[in-house]
Amino acid sequence: MPKTNDRRPATAQPSTRIGYGFDSHEFRSGIPLKIGGITLQHDKGLGGHSDGDVLLHAITDALLGAIAAPDIGALFPPSDPKWKGADSVIFLREALARVHDSGYGVANVDASLILAAPKIGPHAAVIRTRVAELLGVHSGCVGLKAKTPEGLNLDAAAIAHVVVLLQKARQKRRRTKSR
Ligand SMILES: [Zn+2]
Repeated sequence: MPKTNDRRPATAQPSTRIGYGFDSHEFRSGIPLKIGGITLQHDKGLGGHSDGDVLLHAITDALLGAIAAPDIGALFPPSDPKWKGADSVIFLREALARVHDSGYGVANVDASLILAAPKIGPHAAVIRTRVAELLGVHSGCVGLKAKTPEGLNLDAAAIAHVVVLLQKARQKRRRTKSR
């Protein structure tokens, strides 16, 4: 029998897992701007999949990636008319439920938003609070930085990069009905 360095049983899971998510959407006139589950006052919104919430989509993909689940596009295909204009909170809740089903909880999240306008600074606290509430963590566990796309020629788009750290839950959580 060849020796193996990995003596863990096949079912063993690491105590922590990291996830990364990226998303981008194009600004379009005449639609509301949703970022992090919050509607921001702006003359343009983000078009594309569902309500175009670039931050919630990147967080959803980070959660799914951390547990090696199918990504947001596979679970909620943009081609399905069911998701047109949908509240992205639905996607985030499903990803979080899968994280809990896998025996993990969220430790912390860190996000970078890249967009020319509007300024995120004045809204950062309310976005962090909402994201923390959705993830069931303290707002001190949600990092949010906003940058302008200097030199990228990307003023017509909003981009989000997110990393999430999961830790093994002490007790396996059951799915709860969404509020
Ligand atoms: Zn998206």
